[in-house]
Amino acid sequence: MIETVAKLELPVGEHIVIRKNRLVPVEGEQAANGRMTLVSGIHGDELEGQYICYEVGRRVREHPEYLRGILDIFPALNPLGIDTAHRTVPKINMDMNRMFPGDPAGGMMDRVVAAVVSDIIGSDICLDIHASDSFVREIPQVRLSQDFAEKLLPFAMLTNVDMIWKNATATVHESTLAHSLNVLNVPALVVEMGQGQSVNRQYGDQVVDGIFNVMSHMGLWTGPVNETQIPAVSDDGEVEFIRSEETGIFLPLMAHNHYVRRSDVIGEIVDPYSGTIKSRVCAPVGGLLFTLRVYPVVYEGDLLARILGQP
Ligand SMILES: [Zn+2]
Repeated sequence: MIETVAKLELPVGEHIVIRKNRLVPVEGEQAANGRMTLVSGIHGDELEGQYICYEVGRRVREHPEYLRGILDIFPALNPLGIDTAHRTVPKINMDMNRMFPGDPAGGMMDRVVAAVVSDIIGSDICLDIHASDSFVREIPQVRLSQDFAEKLLPFAMLTNVDMIWKNATATVHESTLAHSLNVLNVPALVVEMGQGQSVNRQYGDQVVDGIFNVMSHMGLWTGPVNETQIPAVSDDGEVEFIRSEETGIFLPLMAHNHYVRRSDVIGEIVDPYSGTIKSRVCAPVGGLLFTLRVYPVVYEGDLLARILGQP
């Protein structure tokens, strides 16, 4: 059932309406063994979660008899941002994921985000699904803050992602939805995957398999689940950032989600005017190439790749 969780009139004549779909066991909410919440679209230009919300809902509709818990799906926490392909909340131009936990007695956006948090409280687990921007692509990964890593790792291990990045500081900033929920004792995982403004169905299916695996382990789903993998786990110190030293056109030479050796050539930065290679981008360490630039135009300092180094 589609329910409205928060509604707000903006002074500019627009509305913000945040809705969720609540799926319940065929016997009704009273028969539920627990509750999972899926959230996406806090950043309106990150659309990988749209497919995940659709596909989770589709699989449950196909076999409602296996659902043993409550599943709340929020595809669009920043609906105006999704409508207009904006990362931030349009008109007020603020990052919604820097506004949590909000305040029920505060300003308009404070009240909206507080209503969302209050609705999610009571869930046994929450997954907040993000995508990258349109410049770099990420393999499916869970990002955790060190503060909650011990508590969240057992859940994250079930999600069928390729990698778990502990202490990924910016993603799990204090005023994010996930951090706020974790402080309020709702285990909340941040999933990052794919790239901005697009949907990678293969990555989506991988994470959906993980979501059903989590539900199965928590007793929320009794149907069959697809085989899942054990993710690679990192600590912050092991993640190597590779930035461009030149301005030019970046041409990757390595497949994404690939184990590289130290000094392997990840790609080249070329000059289309002179037809020359300006620099070769080499792996400073061996490990898993988990972030890879997809947008070819690069300037000095731009992120080209990230490698999860192997101990
Ligand atoms: Zn995001």
